[in-house]
Amino acid sequence: MADDDRRALLDDLRQLIELDRGLGVEFLARPAAGAAPLPARPAPVAAAPAETPRPATALVSYATLPPARPTSPSPPSSALAPMTQPPPPVSAPTGMAASDIAAIAAEVAQCRACGLCATRTNTVPGEGNPATELVFVGEGPGADEDAQGRPFVGRAGELLTAMIVAMGFPREQVFICNVVKCRPPGNRLPAPDEIAACQGFLHRQLLAIRPKVICTLGNTPLRALMGDDKLGITKLRGQRLDWRGIPLIPTFHPAYLLRNPPAKKPCWEDLKVVLGVLGRTPPPRKAE
Ligand code: SF4
Repeated sequence: MADDDRRALLDDLRQLIELDRGLGVEFLARPAAGAAPLPARPAPVAAAPAETPRPATALVSYATLPPARPTSPSPPSSALAPMTQPPPPVSAPTGMAASDIAAIAAEVAQCRACGLCATRTNTVPGEGNPATELVFVGEGPGADEDAQGRPFVGRAGELLTAMIVAMGFPREQVFICNVVKCRPPGNRLPAPDEIAACQGFLHRQLLAIRPKVICTLGNTPLRALMGDDKLGITKLRGQRLDWRGIPLIPTFHPAYLLRNPPAKKPCWEDLKVVLGVLGRTPPPRKAE
């Protein structure tokens, strides 16, 4: 990792810690005993150039899919059930879900159903525990994910991992995937025909796992799964929707949180709604 990238990542993490401490929220796991402390804040560096704006892309018309239908308002945090026991240990991928997920990944690796196959380095089918109760769905692989063949491994992935840990799960205990399994070049949104071509893989993954909650990250998975390209994350975040009988709760994409740190507070509220549906509460803060 280049020095500038490392500095930017450390700055993001410090900003996150400072903001979340102010909110009484911890998105970041405490370092293990004996771990080296974070180095001192470096001197300010020149602002990074603005991200390349994504070309506007109309989303596919999902005429064959059911419309969005909120099932019930989000429960207030005070109504969340207390956690009576710690999260279960990571279970080994066994049974039909594991074999189905492996079979889907093998199909994805051979897939040439849309133009994204021409520019990909690796397919990124998703990873995690096929027996999980919680699935996160993002938009599509970026450069780091394309290089490694794994979802959410860049800066946004670091933040997603911190969010998952703050909820009380090891990252390995949940399943993480995207709407499209190959990288859209130039950091652009997946095109409608690419989403349509790939959605069968995502649907099969979700139906194989049948988690207790699907948490969508950003507009693209919300619109793709709910079948309505007019839905917006700003209005629907934290709401309990429904995808084929599975509660679906949208929140912001971690990349958006990196660009807009104040959005981390409402995002954390959304994640507490997810925990509420799972019958859990956030792990208690450790004493300073
Ligand atoms: S994005 Fe999906 S549909 Fe397109 S080539 Fe990759 S796996 Fe196939």
